[in-house]
Amino acid sequence: MKLVLLGAPGAGKGTQAKKLIEKFGIPQISTGDLLRAAVAAETDLGKEAKSFMDKGELVPDSVVLGMVEERLGQDDCQEGYILDGFPRNSAQAEALDEMLGSLSMELDAALSVDVPLEDLMKRLTGRRTCRECGQMYNIYFSAPAEEGKCDKCGGELFQRDDDKEETISKRLEVYNQQTAPLIDYYQEKGILKSVNGTGGIDEIFVSVCSTLGL
Ligand code: AMP
Repeated sequence: MKLVLLGAPGAGKGTQAKKLIEKFGIPQISTGDLLRAAVAAETDLGKEAKSFMDKGELVPDSVVLGMVEERLGQDDCQEGYILDGFPRNSAQAEALDEMLGSLSMELDAALSVDVPLEDLMKRLTGRRTCRECGQMYNIYFSAPAEEGKCDKCGGELFQRDDDKEETISKRLEVYNQQTAPLIDYYQEKGILKSVNGTGGIDEIFVSVCSTLGL
């Protein structure tokens, strides 16, 4: 299964991608995670990306495309992958088509996870992630048993810098202007599928699987 996950920040793409990985063992390629790792490691690429990420803007295509191309060429991606947070604009979508063409790969589906705008703010401001194992929580909907501590591994929970309120508005604006048009792009290619992203995580996962015929 070669899949693109579409949806606004906070729609639950990462959460559903993690469930797909657990169940089907296909790798998730999250450009946001790759960029955060580069920022944490203070690589040149990370230093360049950080200023854009802190402002809620998109990192330049040249940075992201090289990163994705390298990842897609790795052995574990040959049977399938879930692209999460990429493509983010039409230039990236076109570049992805070219990359896949040269690797003789084809996407099976682009899955849009739809959540009303008014729900997204609470999801984003409430989001907390475990520093150790990456498990995600939400202080409003799925709080950990003990505040600030991961239920699974006891690791420390943190709030992403770009999940602060002022940056979130910018990220949602960028999504509406640059990423939402990709829904039409994949619709025209005939591979768009959509799920309602409101409700419980497991309930949404059932819809994801049935929509994808898994
Ligand atoms: P995410 O974790 O997908 O919400 O991404 C967090 C931030 O990383 C975004 O607000 C962007 O600054 C940057 N980013 C992630 N993916 C991309 C991408 N495909 N193109 C450009 N910037 C990206």
